[in-house]
Amino acid sequence: MSFRIGQGYDVHRLIEGRRLVLGGEVIPFDRGLDGYSDADVLLHAPGDALLGAAGLGDLGSHFPPGDPRWENADSCDLLREIFLKVRDEGFRVVNCDLTLIAEAPKLAPYSSSIRRRLADLLEIEVDAVGLKATTNEKLGWIGRGEGMAATAVVLLKRK
Ligand code: MG
Repeated sequence: MSFRIGQGYDVHRLIEGRRLVLGGEVIPFDRGLDGYSDADVLLHAPGDALLGAAGLGDLGSHFPPGDPRWENADSCDLLREIFLKVRDEGFRVVNCDLTLIAEAPKLAPYSSSIRRRLADLLEIEVDAVGLKATTNEKLGWIGRGEGMAATAVVLLKRK
């Protein structure tokens, strides 16, 4: 039996004139995350965690910013593509656990649909998807609302 653990971390800046997409949900907010794709931190962090666990590099090497294929890309497509690469290496996902670090908005109303989406993308049960949110207690750049961060861990099992 062979297990692999991976961790991921992502940050995007909040700017005006962009829609906010978190975990594939479009969330009403006065600003959105800036980035080449849809800048969905809650999907980029588990993407990096999956790649790390499988020893497949990082998100930037698979989806280089500036590549027109990924301009405004739906990060659900990126995460699914990563999942398929990892599955091709003979792994399945056991569980994943995510934390969003942001002063606002509240994630709770969207939490169950985000977990459902992640479960579908990673081919696991909903109860194998952990999703938490915390503020940064108004400290530093996250506390000032300049951006958001997300962390993720995933556990893989070799089939
Ligand atoms: Mg990112």
